[in-house]
Amino acid sequence: MSLATCAAAVNISADPSPRDGAPRSMEHGAGAERRLGSTGVMVRWTAMKDGDQRPLELGGQRYREGLCGLGRKQVWLSQVHGSRVVRVTGPEISLGEPADALVSARDDVCLTIFVADCAPVVLASREGVMAAVHAGWRGLMAGVVHAAVTAMASMGATEIIGAVGPCVHAECYEFSARDLDAVASRFGDEVRSTAAGGQSSLDLPAAVSVALREAGVSCVFQAIECTACSGLHFSHRAMRSPERQAMLVWRQSEKERDQENAGLFGKYGSRLVPNTQVL
Ligand SMILES: [Zn+2]
Repeated sequence: MSLATCAAAVNISADPSPRDGAPRSMEHGAGAERRLGSTGVMVRWTAMKDGDQRPLELGGQRYREGLCGLGRKQVWLSQVHGSRVVRVTGPEISLGEPADALVSARDDVCLTIFVADCAPVVLASREGVMAAVHAGWRGLMAGVVHAAVTAMASMGATEIIGAVGPCVHAECYEFSARDLDAVASRFGDEVRSTAAGGQSSLDLPAAVSVALREAGVSCVFQAIECTACSGLHFSHRAMRSPERQAMLVWRQSEKERDQENAGLFGKYGSRLVPNTQVL
């Protein structure tokens, strides 16, 4: 696996080399399940076509079993644009806690973050520790990426890799000059950009990249789609959507990894193998 920096965003649609002759359409965008290198940590970023992913409790349509569909318990938060991390360490889970990152090393849970322009960030280590992070500009300023990495390290993670799903991009993210000054003073002038209409704007992917780099995370993938103008995503800014995409993060069990390594088509492998991209 080659490690790319997030400065060179990867275009999902141009992603090369489908595995094992899988249909090209299954390799694109939100439909694919992606594995972070050899960590065994999986991620799926949903899109509008998958429907509103919010659970009933948050006004959505989706019950908590959601799209993960591998018999795992789906864990989600009441996201508050802060830096609090919830560790999922035992079989009992608490839903809807006010926080913006979930960390776990269990293979029976599916960590879920809801987004509609903020950046959904997955973190993974070869020790099997994973995190799902809700990263908007306020959360980044509050240190949510660093907090998630610190929690992962406390659970045994050493080298951590990360990947960033679709979020709003600078051309669609007009931003007040005062707030932009504050973000730039924290993350550097590379976060300053210009919106399509010429107004000052925030380059959120750039801010995420800096936060990851500062936290010692190697970013292996950054989606190039802008949620506000792709036409494929719910967007808070472009559509005032109450609906949300989900980022689903889970860890393969030993059995699933063995099946994938052996190319077997078992209970889960039949779905997992042909539709999995390795980031
Ligand atoms: Zn855009």
